[in-house]
Amino acid sequence: MNDSPLPAPGLPAGFDAPDEAAVKAFRDSILAKLVYQVGGRPERASPRDWFIATALAARDHIVDDWRRSNDQTRSDDRKGVCYLSMEFLIGRLLSDALGNLGLTETARRALEGLGVDLDTVAGQEADAALGNGGLGRLAACFMESMASVDVPAYGYGIRYENGLFRQVIAGGIQHEVPEDWLALGNPWEFERSGLVYEVRFGGHVRSEVSVDGSTRMIWHAGEIVNALAYDTPVVGWRGKRVNTLRLWSARATDPLQLGDFNRGDHVGSQSARMRAEAISRVLYPGDESEAGQELRLRQEYFFASASLQDILRRHLSNHADLSNLAEHIAVQLNDTHPAIGVAELMRLLVDLHGMEWDAAWTVTQAVFSYTNHTLLPEALETWAVPMMERVLPRHMQIIYLINARHLDRARTGGADDMLLSAVSLIDERHGRRVRMGHLAFVGSHRINGVSALHSQLMRDTVFADLNQVCGDRITNKTNGITFRRWLHRANPGLTRLLVDAIGPAVLDDPNRLADLVPLADDAAFQQKFAAQRRAAKERLASLIAGRIGLRVDPDALFDVQIKRIHEYKRQLLNIVQTVALYNAMRARPTASWVPRVKIFAGKAAPSYHKAKDIIRLANDVAAVVNDDPTLRGLLKVAFIPNYNVSLAEGIIPAADLSEQISTAGLEASGTGNMKLALNGALTIGTLDGANVEIDERVGRDNIFIFGLTAEEVMERKRAGYDARAAAAASPELRGALDAIASGVFSPGEPGRYRGLVEGLMHDDRYLVTADFDSYNTRQRDVASRWSQPESWWRSAVLNTAQVGWFSSDRTIREYAADIWGVAADDS
Ligand SMILES: *Cc1c(COP(=O)(O)O)cnc(C)c1O
Repeated sequence: MNDSPLPAPGLPAGFDAPDEAAVKAFRDSILAKLVYQVGGRPERASPRDWFIATALAARDHIVDDWRRSNDQTRSDDRKGVCYLSMEFLIGRLLSDALGNLGLTETARRALEGLGVDLDTVAGQEADAALGNGGLGRLAACFMESMASVDVPAYGYGIRYENGLFRQVIAGGIQHEVPEDWLALGNPWEFERSGLVYEVRFGGHVRSEVSVDGSTRMIWHAGEIVNALAYDTPVVGWRGKRVNTLRLWSARATDPLQLGDFNRGDHVGSQSARMRAEAISRVLYPGDESEAGQELRLRQEYFFASASLQDILRRHLSNHADLSNLAEHIAVQLNDTHPAIGVAELMRLLVDLHGMEWDAAWTVTQAVFSYTNHTLLPEALETWAVPMMERVLPRHMQIIYLINARHLDRARTGGADDMLLSAVSLIDERHGRRVRMGHLAFVGSHRINGVSALHSQLMRDTVFADLNQVCGDRITNKTNGITFRRWLHRANPGLTRLLVDAIGPAVLDDPNRLADLVPLADDAAFQQKFAAQRRAAKERLASLIAGRIGLRVDPDALFDVQIKRIHEYKRQLLNIVQTVALYNAMRARPTASWVPRVKIFAGKAAPSYHKAKDIIRLANDVAAVVNDDPTLRGLLKVAFIPNYNVSLAEGIIPAADLSEQISTAGLEASGTGNMKLALNGALTIGTLDGANVEIDERVGRDNIFIFGLTAEEVMERKRAGYDARAAAAASPELRGALDAIASGVFSPGEPGRYRGLVEGLMHDDRYLVTADFDSYNTRQRDVASRWSQPESWWRSAVLNTAQVGWFSSDRTIREYAADIWGVAADDS
């Protein structure tokens, strides 16, 4: 099937009114870029050439503001933020940059004059997938919001040559293909060849007595890798300020062992280079092998070290010493991946800058804060002590020292042995391992969860002991999303409608969305709202036809579950319910069924076999359901391959129903839930993560809540849950599971899913069967609501109207005030 680049989401029209001179200047600039930088000719240029030329022309508009933002921060000596993240899932940047600069119309008309269409050009851009999912997308939304609310910031991460894999579905099975996002050039980045730091690995540590009689620890590294900076400007809304995303690329210090090469060992002479450069080759190398785990650790230390060296250099260029570092810089650790930074900053301050331990520790704790993103035990990072000693021998010593002092303080505070072993940075239970979450916690003045429920669970469960010992450092910062990307750019039709209805101030202040509330009962407004949805559904229908050759009816209810494939997110619950619906429709084909399209998209981690089975099952169910004539087309199942930011932008405006159905207590926040509710989809969901806060804001009449609560989930697990009994008690569930297990959807291999269903009966740890009946009942409520359009669209309008609080501008202002101590604009 066709795999042409996804069309860019339509760019909002009419928010900026260009004058002729500006259009002409922009056109001249694009032409000059095309001729002198791309080396093309207007009459032969490809859309890709035009994209590069347009992006370069837009970049010129950014550079002056960028310099001005940096100069001003420096001259005003403003405190700034460094956001350390292993992932930045930024997606495409052209429409973002043009939109925030107010140049969309200027660029559109400039290109029109050259016979070129802006949307086609924007659709050429590679989707920068330097992240997996929610965590990386949060970092990208935060970068945009920090620029928009005037917080000086650097994002620090890794410039992966190959980001997240491209997902290809063949025979229903996920295959992973490398995503070569840099292949055709990246017009946004600046290589900073003068900004290179040495990052050390391995070797050994010796103590040396210096002339004044004090002892210093000297790390004699076994290997040095260079970190080279690439900067991408991040433009805020209305060009308010431009911040920097600084990504590190790994380079060998010696590209070639010339002696070996000349002796004829042409491959071996480059092995050191390969080893060094593997660090920034791929996002999340497989970590099933020891070598894979070591590479992960090398990646984490590589970017933490380069970033901290850069932060200290920048500080010292403007200040006399490092004692006041925390007055000028706040460093946010996005999850534990950069947590080794705590030990690295201690090393830099004590070993290199000669600071006393206690003074250095005070600075470190005041500088760092840490965001936790998951409480799943398997996702909490730990590193084996022997590996740490081998890769980072000095850091292991520093971690022991931090731990000794931390445990002494706890002991003095009355902690018993059990509490001490729970709060220790070293887990002694199964081989000695360093707990990176504990290191981040102890080294930070604030630790935050990402939704009210998640932060409460942090306090009550995984971090209860540490929080007690460390004196209540946990705070909540519910996630948010940037409305510029997820409403203005992704859904220009709806945005235009909102501006017409309640005025353009809504573009600057998301709280103004509440002005829509009175319009929720207005029949004419409801119709306009529904018409925007309908147009988006037509576009999605043609995308689905193009991608997977499936025809779907834009008048059907579009029921959407788009996110990483994971057992706790429970795509399986949705698929089983789809099968139950299929069974019911076949049993009573002439009943008045609501036409429905079940839409799935998402990638599974390459080594996560259960998640891949779930993808295959979704595709197998789709193949049978979509071709069954007894359904008369009333049920369709679409698995759209290669979920990424651009695909999300295409699906979200077309969604009627948003599936947020994780096992309660396991989704830290979710942000997909916010994007969909903002665009007016109704949520069917559990009381999990930020769903709880969405429910509070939109009201129980405008959301479909089902299932066990987090507390009930914990009780069920304590009591020992019996899935077989649940299946026996529910005929619809049993019928669906029997159909899957007996091979109805895998006729060529009837036993394909027997193991999956048996496994569920044996150990249903995500409580799919426990929540099935409640979910299935709620899905019937959804269908009956859909049959009363005035009621449905009233709720849809009220969703958009009442989720303004989930803007990441709000989230960033809260971080700025409560964690970072930096000034933000307060509009
Ligand atoms: C928002 C987003 C996510 C996160 O979705 P959840 O439903 O919160 O898990 C993941 N991937 C992409 C591409 C996104 O845009």
